[in-house]
Amino acid sequence: MSEQAIGVVGAGTMGQGIAQVLAQSGFSVRLYDVAEEQLQRARGAIDKGLGKLVAKEKLAAADQQETMARLDTTTALDALRDCEVIIEAAPEQPALKEKLFRDLSRLSHEAILASNTSSLSLTRLAAVCERPERVVGMHFFNPVPVLKLVEVIRAEQTSDATVARIEALTQALGKTAVAIGDSPGFAVNRLLVPMINEAAFLLQEGVASAADIDASMKLGAAHPMGPLALADLIGLDVCLSIMEVLQEGFGDPKYRPCPLLKRMVAAGYLGRKSGRGFHVY
Ligand code: NAD
Repeated sequence: MSEQAIGVVGAGTMGQGIAQVLAQSGFSVRLYDVAEEQLQRARGAIDKGLGKLVAKEKLAAADQQETMARLDTTTALDALRDCEVIIEAAPEQPALKEKLFRDLSRLSHEAILASNTSSLSLTRLAAVCERPERVVGMHFFNPVPVLKLVEVIRAEQTSDATVARIEALTQALGKTAVAIGDSPGFAVNRLLVPMINEAAFLLQEGVASAADIDASMKLGAAHPMGPLALADLIGLDVCLSIMEVLQEGFGDPKYRPCPLLKRMVAAGYLGRKSGRGFHVY
């Protein structure tokens, strides 16, 4: 339990999940977004998510109300001034995040500033901040209430105390922290997305069908989903942009995106969200 509130910036897919898990773990949460209607949507989605847990008897009905009571929403960045930790989950746009971090670092000289970025350099984000030693990556996975991992990313400037605080917070959320350096794709995406890209090459070369590629990894490597079905879930556009981050970040041709993946994105076959990807939905 914490006396001081934790701030969450951005009430989209990830911000909602992060706010829910914090509130469920007993923290007071201030959820900030630029769009009031998005905050209302987030409150509704979190309440619904908690309601499902109550229906499954994983949460008491009274806890649902108490959890919602710990969640404040705001469109005023200033309301985060006295938060002990601020977790940013705003859109993945470098200029937008840099402005936010600069503003947040001026708003509070004490708060730890954590970013949920999937691909941006924490070192560059820290560089625009006052007291950059309190900037760190806190990379959650979607859906946040379900997936137990948090990659804690250390920028060049990040202090040991900052890392220790975020590791303790991760544990308080019932999740496991892994310590990762500030390197393109961090660990999970650098392992996962090149595998998906290689699966696209197998398909492109006619070595195996999509169904057989997925069956291979499910039954031969005990993966819960095949790589192509997983790509459809993540979104092919997201997979492509991660390959581009790896290719640009390392300059190594082994990270070249598969031409088939590029063509599918160009065609608008983005996976589940567009009804068609490597499989049809
Ligand atoms: P999203 O588009 O669902 O949500 C972004 C939210 O930020 C929206 O509610 C939007 O209104 C709000 N916003 C826009 N401008 C803002 C500003 N200036 N200040 C505050 N809020 C602002 O995005 P998302 O999928 O939740 O991703 C958020 C971050 O999390 C990104 O950095 C992304 O790379 C990262 N991430 C995403 C996933 C995923 O699976 N979606 C997984 C891990 C990390």
